[in-house]
Amino acid sequence: MLKLENVSKFYYNKGIIASGFTKVNVELKIGEFVAIIGESGSGKSTLLNVISGLDSYEEGEMYVNGKETSHYQEKDFEEYRRKYIANIFQEFNLINSYTVYQNVELVLLLNGYKKHKIKKKILDIIDKVGLTKFKNTKVSKLSGGQKQRVAIARAMVKDTPIIVADEPTGNLDSESAKEIIELLKKVAKDKLVVVVTHNIEQIEDVATRIIKMHDGRIVQNIEKKKIKEEPEITESKYHNITLFNKYRLGVRNTFNIASKFLLLFAVFFFLSASILTEYASFQMSEANTADEGYSIAFRDLSENRIIINKKDRTYFTNEDYEKIKQLPNIDYIVEDDIFIDEQVPIYKDDMSLYGNLLDINNFRGDINYGRMPENDSEIIVRINEEHFYITNRLEELLNKTFSLQGIGGNYNNESTKDLIVVGVQTYKNAGHYDCEFYVSKNLLNELRNDVNKSYSNIKVLLNNKYVQYTVEPNDNVPEGKAIVDDEFKYQFRYNRIRNQPIEISLNNIYYEEVLNLSISNTYTKSNLKRLLGLNEYDSNRNKIFVNTEDYNKLFNKPSYQSSVYVKDVETIDETMNDLQNLGINPKKVTDFKVNQGEASLRIIKIIKVIVTIILIIVLFFISYLIIKIILKSRNVYYATLRMLGATYKNVRRILDIELFINSTLSYIVLLLFIHLVKTNVIHLEYIAQITEYIGLIEYVLMYLVLILISKLISRKFAKKLFKNTTINTYNEEV
Ligand code: ADP
Ligand code: MG
Repeated sequence: MLKLENVSKFYYNKGIIASGFTKVNVELKIGEFVAIIGESGSGKSTLLNVISGLDSYEEGEMYVNGKETSHYQEKDFEEYRRKYIANIFQEFNLINSYTVYQNVELVLLLNGYKKHKIKKKILDIIDKVGLTKFKNTKVSKLSGGQKQRVAIARAMVKDTPIIVADEPTGNLDSESAKEIIELLKKVAKDKLVVVVTHNIEQIEDVATRIIKMHDGRIVQNIEKKKIKEEPEITESKYHNITLFNKYRLGVRNTFNIASKFLLLFAVFFFLSASILTEYASFQMSEANTADEGYSIAFRDLSENRIIINKKDRTYFTNEDYEKIKQLPNIDYIVEDDIFIDEQVPIYKDDMSLYGNLLDINNFRGDINYGRMPENDSEIIVRINEEHFYITNRLEELLNKTFSLQGIGGNYNNESTKDLIVVGVQTYKNAGHYDCEFYVSKNLLNELRNDVNKSYSNIKVLLNNKYVQYTVEPNDNVPEGKAIVDDEFKYQFRYNRIRNQPIEISLNNIYYEEVLNLSISNTYTKSNLKRLLGLNEYDSNRNKIFVNTEDYNKLFNKPSYQSSVYVKDVETIDETMNDLQNLGINPKKVTDFKVNQGEASLRIIKIIKVIVTIILIIVLFFISYLIIKIILKSRNVYYATLRMLGATYKNVRRILDIELFINSTLSYIVLLLFIHLVKTNVIHLEYIAQITEYIGLIEYVLMYLVLILISKLISRKFAKKLFKNTTINTYNEEV
């Protein structure tokens, strides 16, 4: 069966050559029970490893069934081991985290047997070694003698023609040792059993041949009992492990050691969490930069806002607004968009709020405190929930009178309005603390007049000369007349100012208006009260007072420019077309946006990609190192798998599956965690904020990256395991 001719084994260690054994010549037949004895270091184990194909040899020739093996590659030895060899080791080499049954089963699974077909066989063998009672016990809980029996059961179950045992009784008390030898004897029938021992007495009766080694050489080879004819050799049958069993082992390995499972889980969790966090914060700063545009004219740069005015440059009538409202996709109209773009303060002695004025008709939702307004001076304030006024000073806000000091730079006493806050609505938006003041339409109209006034250019033509004087309403002045400062009279010959014409013309970007009046009277310090009902002369100098009706002709105009908000931004272009067809000039407010962010946006994008890639690579190596340490304890397991007949591909696959399951579970838990943060079950402001910026695609991509990383890790790990001969890999790890 086995024949060694001048076989030598050398070890190369850091330039030093050591001899394992030299020029060994021996022939072993099926049916023999061979005992190898000799002092420590004499080369027994080395010889055994070469015979079992666990280690290579450098010189001579070993024949298996008459075939040369000196040209064998690792793959050929793998096949040889699977067909012929079963090993029993001094250190047992069992999978401690598996049960007795699972340990025996493992050999058969690795050699392609189907699980359901081998149950009886395994139980029979466990019975033969007397461990039926312990079949479901984890090996780690067994005694040394029991462990060695498991090892024997495992060696028996595959039914190979050669069984090789290296000091199988070395770690056992004499009682157990005896039992083990008995067992081996039973097994030896029709097989070649080679046993290394330091205790020849134990084995003397059983052995058919005793080989004594000394200093790497065979010094004695006694054939105690002649084995005449070699019976026919039945090679052990094997297939590759089935896919299903690979999964079975992968799943078993995932969970069999709790601490290892949790550590791997933590590594994968940390890995995907940090990549996602890094990516999301980039996405956030990218989004923030993209929004960073500004416009000098417009504050509200919402994507759904369209600025409109009429093509014929006339004002909007109610009819126009009705037509616009009929269009599909219109959310609401703000007639005067200055109110959107201008922030105003409302204040009382000890409190002031900043915000935008809005039409009460556009108010949506419910009031949280107070009630709806009932007249023009009552308003609703919409305010951020986190604004401390709400929680701390609500009673100072509700039903209190605030002043609004005009708008459009038009801050004078006449335009100051008193407003009573009767209702409060709260909203939630981290980082946005602006208020909204919902006021009556009438108040907005009044304010619009003020705005028209402050944005208009007013010229007064007096005695054919343009002069700059302030125009103010006063109902003591008759319609069509003007009462002016007495000082003006010096512009006329003989100071004759009465009944002289005065032309007041106004223009702004939307309209022009001309008022032709005649001067009915002039005021002085002494007659100011009688004529106009005013007290202070000094603050009223150089003014032209006209009747309120006339005054309104100048300033009380409907809106020329409004804003439309669409419901669906996707179809905003269709709405723009519809507006065009109504004789309206529409312009998206975003077109007025000057984006400073373009360049920095591009830089952020590039940095994002680079940093993400670097992070993935760095984390891959960190994870590999950590996982390598975690799996270090598992190297014995994989080396054992290899001894039992697993190929590189098998080991890689089984490891793949284990890491796949673990990483998938950790990813699911991560997603669950994110979900809990998003639904506010777990309060983590920053995480909640940045996860807004990752979508389904990113989550899927992250998962793929995670799987890829776990695959690369298992590949790297498996490669390392198979870099060396089986026994070296094993020895390195023990
Ligand atoms: P035994 O099993 O009889 O105690 P071994 O077969 O383990 O002896 O060792 C035989 C010789 O080979 C010893 O001199 C030992 O130092 C050497 N040897 C064994 N394994 C290695 C190795 N991996 N590298 C270098 N020398 C080794
Ligand atoms: Mg040894």
